[in-house]
Amino acid sequence: MKAVQYREVGKGPEVVEIDIPEPGPGQIRLRVTAAGLCHSDWFLMDLPADQYAYGLPLTLGHEGTGIVHKLGDGVEGIDIGGSYAVYGPWGCGQCHACSQGRENYCTRAAELGITPPGLGAPGAMAEYMIVDDARHLVPLGDLDPVQTVSLTDAGLTPYHAIRAAQDRLFPGATAVVIGAGGLGHVGIQILRAISAVTVIAVDQNEEKLALAAEVGAHHTLMSGPDTADEIRALTGGQGAQAVFDFVGVQSTLDIARAAVAVDGYVSIVGIGGGLLPTGFFSTPFGVSVRAPYWGSRSELHEVLDLARIGAVTVHTEVYGIDDAVEAYDKLHAGTVRGRAVVVP
Ligand code: NAD
Ligand code: ZN
Ligand code: ZN
Repeated sequence: MKAVQYREVGKGPEVVEIDIPEPGPGQIRLRVTAAGLCHSDWFLMDLPADQYAYGLPLTLGHEGTGIVHKLGDGVEGIDIGGSYAVYGPWGCGQCHACSQGRENYCTRAAELGITPPGLGAPGAMAEYMIVDDARHLVPLGDLDPVQTVSLTDAGLTPYHAIRAAQDRLFPGATAVVIGAGGLGHVGIQILRAISAVTVIAVDQNEEKLALAAEVGAHHTLMSGPDTADEIRALTGGQGAQAVFDFVGVQSTLDIARAAVAVDGYVSIVGIGGGLLPTGFFSTPFGVSVRAPYWGSRSELHEVLDLARIGAVTVHTEVYGIDDAVEAYDKLHAGTVRGRAVVVP
């Protein structure tokens, strides 16, 4: 089968031919219907060899959907031919967090060597993939896999970040979304769907800001040295009750810190490596700062339900697997509008 793999540090993704994997006991083989590209794929492919810890060769793709093709021994309750989304942050299934479906915060995954597909385990960017357990499949029903696949990360991650800040998202409040890319353009729609806040989108690219406005941002701002002042001006001097930073570099976290309101909330979702120093005199009174990771199983159900009622739509650029390298190059260059999706 064809697969998109990262095989050599510094060399970027390659389209290669590998064997079709066999499902072991308890596992499920999917015929992949779609796989999404995430900027985190570039985070790991840009790491130097001494910091790279995801194994080689690595089949990419931590956003996946597929049709059940073969069941390993002992799998029950899953139908061959059923269409599913893959819940990616695999955990142990046994610890306190996993028992709540919050496998993204599994306390034993590291110790047990459990890694998500595409971020250690073989991922979705291939004709077939193995899912380790039936509990990591969420039925898609009538949802179109290609249009839906990115909700497994670009939808689930902002949903989880936003739900955690929900008490700050009261009517009259303002939420800032920094980075209107794959995650951000879905985050804006989630904010509009589940709250009555005013949404301000910030990006460094005019086309991303145009998409932000199209999907529901009330205001759009180019990021720069004046952005925090502009946010304060738009909020009557108060600042924003919640800031979701989908970039996370130092300059965007500086904007977040300067733009957050008293008793506000900053969510650092982007993994750009910046720091937001908190302390009594460095952030306004009462500010909370969180660096969330992915989302829970029940939250994935909820995001898919938002898509079912038409409240959230991923803007997709669709590529065949032979064009996956081109799609990755576009993502690296910052020219993907919405999310790039590969159909193997
Ligand atoms: P993307 O490339 O699709 O979008 C990034 C957006 O940020 C683009 O619109 C870009 O123009 C904008 N941007 C970049 N630098 C900027 C700056 N200095 N100021 C303003 N805007 C800027 O990326 P994505 O796939 O949406 O991922 C976003 C981030 O979230 C990445 O860092 C990714 O690794 C991370 N991520 C984190 C989690 C998590 O669980 N915390 C999950 C998925 C992705
Ligand atoms: Zn991701
Ligand atoms: Zn666990």
